[in-house]
Amino acid sequence: MLVNMKKIVEDAAKSNYAVPGFNVFGYEDAAAIVAAAEELDCPVILMTNRDAVAHMPFDILGGVLRGVAENAKVPVCVHLDHGKTFEEAVKAIKAGYTSVMYDGSQLPLEENIKNTKEIVRMAHAVGVTVEAEIGSVGYNDPSIEAKAVYTEPEEAKKFAEETGVDALAVAIGTLHRMETQAAKIQYDRLDKIQELTNVPIVIHGSTGITDDDLQKLAKYRVAKINIGTALRMVFGYKLRETIEANPKEFDRIKFFKEPMEAVRKAAKEKMILLGLGK
Ligand SMILES: [Zn+2]
Repeated sequence: MLVNMKKIVEDAAKSNYAVPGFNVFGYEDAAAIVAAAEELDCPVILMTNRDAVAHMPFDILGGVLRGVAENAKVPVCVHLDHGKTFEEAVKAIKAGYTSVMYDGSQLPLEENIKNTKEIVRMAHAVGVTVEAEIGSVGYNDPSIEAKAVYTEPEEAKKFAEETGVDALAVAIGTLHRMETQAAKIQYDRLDKIQELTNVPIVIHGSTGITDDDLQKLAKYRVAKINIGTALRMVFGYKLRETIEANPKEFDRIKFFKEPMEAVRKAAKEKMILLGLGK
């Protein structure tokens, strides 16, 4: 069942669970993740990042993910991760995405607010939800230039009120692309943000978060937790193992079988960790 993000994040914000937003790169990981969500009978968010849409055009990737979502027995949202412009948001929506993120986090606050408002107005007119970012979650990857800035709770309040976003990504100590669980979460900052606003909260860069912290965060007004690197590692490492173990095999469909199964298992574990499937 294809849905936007509204009900998913509103329900999750009120409850003791968070819904994972998984970065996917094609049919294989998307189908494996949806299979895990169906087993636990819970909603899930499929997201595409800049690498994914650079590899496969919006309309093709959007079509694939939309198809996977429409065939699913559980609510599935197809979400654009880290869109940078109004034009990208329009392209994604035309391609069938039901939700978009606008990332103006590197801009001055007023400019981020102004741009986000325009996208919210356009997207809401066609039933598409919007996530934006305040403060800036940095990257554990020297090739990506982005300054990391913690979210100021007062700014989060102002931003949420003025833009009308459906979900707000905040920077409270995580980094994108961490391969080890070494992030230090600033719970006092998160408490303060929650005190000042009602907006469902999104955490990016979760691969660096310990399992204990993931469980703890799910109980806050955190509604969506983005998971990218963790499953990319599972898929990539299992694919390499399969190829090395079968030197005479050349059929990619056979190569994908075990990585898909590994992604299904890993996605299910993350969902259970975030309080889903009860
Ligand atoms: Zn992110």
